[in-house]
Amino acid sequence: MTVEQTLAELVSIDSVSALSNAEIISYLEARCEALGFTVKRFPHLDETGAEKINLVALQITSQAEAATVELALVGHTDTVPYDPAWSEALKLTESDGKLYGRGACDTKAFIAASLTAIESIDLKKLKQTLALVFTADEEIGCLGAKRLADARPFNARYAIVGEPTSLQPMRAGKGYCLAEITVRGREAHSAYPQLGASAIFRAARLINRIEEVAKDLKSHAHASFDPPFTTLNVGLIEGGTAKNIVAGECCFTLEWRTIPGQESDYVLNLVKREVDDLQKLDPDFVCWIHAARTDESFETRADSPLVHFLEESSNKPSGTVAFGTEAPSMIALGADAVVFGPGDIRVAHRTGEFVPIDELNRCVAILRRSIEHHCF
Ligand SMILES: [Zn+2]
Repeated sequence: MTVEQTLAELVSIDSVSALSNAEIISYLEARCEALGFTVKRFPHLDETGAEKINLVALQITSQAEAATVELALVGHTDTVPYDPAWSEALKLTESDGKLYGRGACDTKAFIAASLTAIESIDLKKLKQTLALVFTADEEIGCLGAKRLADARPFNARYAIVGEPTSLQPMRAGKGYCLAEITVRGREAHSAYPQLGASAIFRAARLINRIEEVAKDLKSHAHASFDPPFTTLNVGLIEGGTAKNIVAGECCFTLEWRTIPGQESDYVLNLVKREVDDLQKLDPDFVCWIHAARTDESFETRADSPLVHFLEESSNKPSGTVAFGTEAPSMIALGADAVVFGPGDIRVAHRTGEFVPIDELNRCVAILRRSIEHHCF
């Protein structure tokens, strides 16, 4: 089966994060079992009651211990939703040397390349354990990979985490954190503001201070990133009930992307300090901070053998990504993790996402060489 045929079959299975991924997992399980892999499912029900499954497929060698994986190839099975008007979202379509379809780029291309690579080598020559890892719910917060890391199904030395990087090895990534902040005030008729306290004015004071925190964060630089520091964003704000009512409540979101070496709660603590300070100035200042998400940053050493190998194979220097990936979960399992795959992240998540056919084929060749290099 060609890599394009495999990709067409993967794209034809609707696996948006809102659905169960059981169908695509069954497909991948059958492909791996046919090659003699030992497969294990890690199922659970998500918050909507849909069954979500992580799958670990191991090619265990007699010389190696089953629990120690030399190389893991990791791909997430879910995709972002697609516009119903995109009638060919689930039908892989070729045009101008590109393959179009939902997930064609993010990240079914990498999965198709992994399956094609393992089918093209003589698995009897493996001296070290190879793992294929297929996860659920990456697109909604790397939830599957986090669960898998908690289950500790194996220890790994090296992991290639599939994501569209245009075949550039990415050895570090920023963390992703989110907090929902609620500031309380006291409603009053706006003709008599002294009888209330405006939650919106209070939130504005806090947001001004958060902007100063963002400026201070620029002094901690990590030269491998663009921009080279932790960034903050207040992306949503909502408050008040009417133009002539002093606002009783104001909520906003605070998102921050941390550079490696900075704990995910570092920014949270800086913001809490500003809240404490505002409370000293105004004992009536009431504010709740709900830390909704903390995804750690990651960094694999520039001199890791995996980084070197992928730099040489791809003929590209290693780089960094500013989006969330499953790499931290693989690092939690002991691996040097590198994010790598065909396709461009800038076309992922768009109607008409695609993977260039030449990159898809080169990815097959690089993954095949990676397996031979690490496991033979
Ligand atoms: Zn992805």
